[in-house]
Amino acid sequence: MDPALSRLLRQLPAVDELLRHPRLLSWVEPLPRSWAAAAVRQVLEAQRQSWRSCPPADLPPQLDDDALFRNLQQALDAAGQPSLRQVINATGVIIHTNLGRSLLAVEALEQMLEVAAHYSTLEYDLLKGERGSRQDHLEGLLRELTGCEAALVVNNNAGAVLLALNTLAQGREVIISRGQLVEIGGSFRLPEIMAVSGAILREVGTTNKTHLRDYENAITSETAMLLKVHPSNFRIVGFTKEVDLPDLVALARRYDLPALEDLGSGCLVDLSRYGLEKEPTVQESLAAGADLVLFSGDKLLGGPQAGFALGSREVVARLRQNPLTRALRPDKLTLAGMEATLRLYLEEPRAVAAIPTLHLLTRPLADVERQARNLARTLKRRWGTKIKVEIRPSEARVGGGALPGASLPSRALALEIPPLAPHELEARLRRAHPPIIARLEHGALLLDLRTIQADEHPALLAALGDVMDL
Ligand SMILES: *Cc1c(COP(=O)(O)O)cnc(C)c1O
Repeated sequence: MDPALSRLLRQLPAVDELLRHPRLLSWVEPLPRSWAAAAVRQVLEAQRQSWRSCPPADLPPQLDDDALFRNLQQALDAAGQPSLRQVINATGVIIHTNLGRSLLAVEALEQMLEVAAHYSTLEYDLLKGERGSRQDHLEGLLRELTGCEAALVVNNNAGAVLLALNTLAQGREVIISRGQLVEIGGSFRLPEIMAVSGAILREVGTTNKTHLRDYENAITSETAMLLKVHPSNFRIVGFTKEVDLPDLVALARRYDLPALEDLGSGCLVDLSRYGLEKEPTVQESLAAGADLVLFSGDKLLGGPQAGFALGSREVVARLRQNPLTRALRPDKLTLAGMEATLRLYLEEPRAVAAIPTLHLLTRPLADVERQARNLARTLKRRWGTKIKVEIRPSEARVGGGALPGASLPSRALALEIPPLAPHELEARLRRAHPPIIARLEHGALLLDLRTIQADEHPALLAALGDVMDL
């Protein structure tokens, strides 16, 4: 072995010594012993590897203590962080599936906390003093808000679709337009859900055009239902046609078949009243006569993760009897958060103000602009010429399979911290406390402010501080 290399290797402290070292104590102490030891070993091994792969002439004369301790502190710190934790969403995608979709209203959080910390009425009827159903907590509210006859809540919308297909169409055919055989993020692919449900897919029409007669021609004694699916994350433009729900419902009635709609997002307010594009609402779908409407709880609705099946008493009763319903049941925290969220919808202005998803979606551009200027000023005041900030027009997105193709006017901070290249800065931001998830666009690093709430500014500044200190 090269003598310079063996000298360096001998200078590396032992694991036990490092675990007791005063410079590491505040990082080591909160960690389980085995985790701290593993993190230290990993850093030491990485250091040995880096020396071994270095040409002997380039080896440093001495171990760089400061660098080693910095690496150790970082590794120990990372080991102490929960895997599932807060990030700052600077992507401008509001319903970001990878970043947790919907943020909950304070009212929902409080209700979840109460139910989590105490025994509750989850399956208990206070009036009768006997067992109740967890499904009873939301049904009245949903009837009032949407006009449905009956409602079932499950774990998510993929579950609701699976349950509906399995209950109503196992071993029989489901007619659906080819243009609606969608794949949605997180590997939800309609043909595959259909296959595991036991239903048989009968696609009609072409990619761009499906006519009412295409459905009608496909109806046989094997047909179990007509299904309409919101295309969610794409849009077919140009020479196109899909059949409207009322026409589909009328056809289904003539053949005594159920018509189902998978709405995806589950919008309860008419977004066109807030200057956004029109997104079909749950109420409209039910009013058009759909026998069952399926949608998510944590997309546009802005509640916790859940799936809804709303519709006629008879169809919902059949779903309830399926043993899959037990396997897909929502937990008490979901139900508590959802009840509080749905209550806000009883007064639409309250819902729009209090539910973060709706608030971020409808906040005026002037508001985002003001936030951008404030933040840019704060950054300049704090870091002067070490940081370059420029306010740029940006396009935020709804995400979550709602309003596909639509963009929302926004403002972004284009950030430079010399000498870091934009992609290096992006990676450093991901390792900050809390991590900041930014956007790289045309070689610039952008922080879109539409998805950053004002109360997150201290956390954002702390995270930027981490990056500046490195
Ligand atoms: C998002 C979506 C689903 C899946 O909903 P989850 O709540 O994510 O399970 C199903 N269908 C459509 C049309 C969707 O947009």
